[in-house]
Amino acid sequence: MANIAADSIGFIGLGAMGMWMAVHLAEKLPESTKLQVYDIVPALVEDLYSKYPHKIIKASSPKDVADKSDIVITMLPEGKHVKTVYLGTNGISSGDIEGKLLIDCSTIDTASFLEVKEDIAKKFQKTLLYDAPVSGGVIGAKKGTIAFFLGCAEDDKEEIERLASLLSLMGGKIIPCGGPSLGLAAKLSNNYLSGIIAIACSEAMDMGMRSGLDPRVLAKVYAAGTAQNAICDRFCPVPGVYPEAPSSNGYRDGFKVQLMKKDFSLALDMAHRVESNNVLGDVGLRTYEGASEDARCRDLDSRVVFRYLGGNENWEAEGNVEGASPERGSLA
Ligand code: NAD
Repeated sequence: MANIAADSIGFIGLGAMGMWMAVHLAEKLPESTKLQVYDIVPALVEDLYSKYPHKIIKASSPKDVADKSDIVITMLPEGKHVKTVYLGTNGISSGDIEGKLLIDCSTIDTASFLEVKEDIAKKFQKTLLYDAPVSGGVIGAKKGTIAFFLGCAEDDKEEIERLASLLSLMGGKIIPCGGPSLGLAAKLSNNYLSGIIAIACSEAMDMGMRSGLDPRVLAKVYAAGTAQNAICDRFCPVPGVYPEAPSSNGYRDGFKVQLMKKDFSLALDMAHRVESNNVLGDVGLRTYEGASEDARCRDLDSRVVFRYLGGNENWEAEGNVEGASPERGSLA
């Protein structure tokens, strides 16, 4: 059992990720620690309450959560939602939060996070707000294996220990990234790289398959050579190469292509703001925008770019790997 010095912990945002994270807290927090929860969709709150009636307290607003909790965790879709929840009417900052610990796990733009942090710092000198975006997807959230990228200095040992004792109830690795908003910067940089690799892996596989190669052989070649990468090894965009990859299950249960588009776009905004030169950004964004709007790809795992780019998914049934689908996604 974790050593959490809190009578009550708050959780706001019970969506695809947040619900599982809250479930882990409900199951693992010390018996005496209550969980105050809030979502704008009341059915989600009711659902969690019905499973853990002795643990969950239904809150009426973010302010209500903040008033009654020592620590508040938020898991929301975008910067605008985070601003509303923290700074809006009946938001967290309208509550009694002096000296409390706030942790935002949403993947949002660094500017919105810093705006919220500065606003709170002006009103409450002893309140701490950390960015702690996560990686690992809904499956990781369910298994409790997500990684947290923490906007905290590595030498702040006491604070990291306190944060880790709580975050480790919901995930595996906790990586301190150096300071405020750097957890978010790390997450966006990671997703930019991961998104680009998925496109490159899809294209490399496609050219090899069209040349007559079996994709399983290609995967072995990459793994043994300089192209080795986690996307091919564990999330191969070509169905049937790695059985546990979303592609082998109809591209279901993965990281939705629309979320990749969102993160990719946030990463590019960040790159422009800090004047980082990138030649792959525009084409990568257009690819994920196109795939997000394509009815064959929308709502599916982002590695569905293989389908979007015209890769042959039926290679196994066809018994040969040549003759891939001529229908290629347009990047115009
Ligand atoms: P989601 O849309 O499923 O859940 C968000 C929840 O926030 C919803 O239940 C929504 O009702 C609630 N919400 C929105 N506005 C609110 C408000 N004003 N007050 C209270 N609740 C509000 O999103 P998700 O998939 O759980 O993702 C959450 C965050 O985590 C996003 O930033 C996403 O990019 C990031 N993330 C998602 C994944 C993934 O695989 N889904 C993986 C890693 C990171």
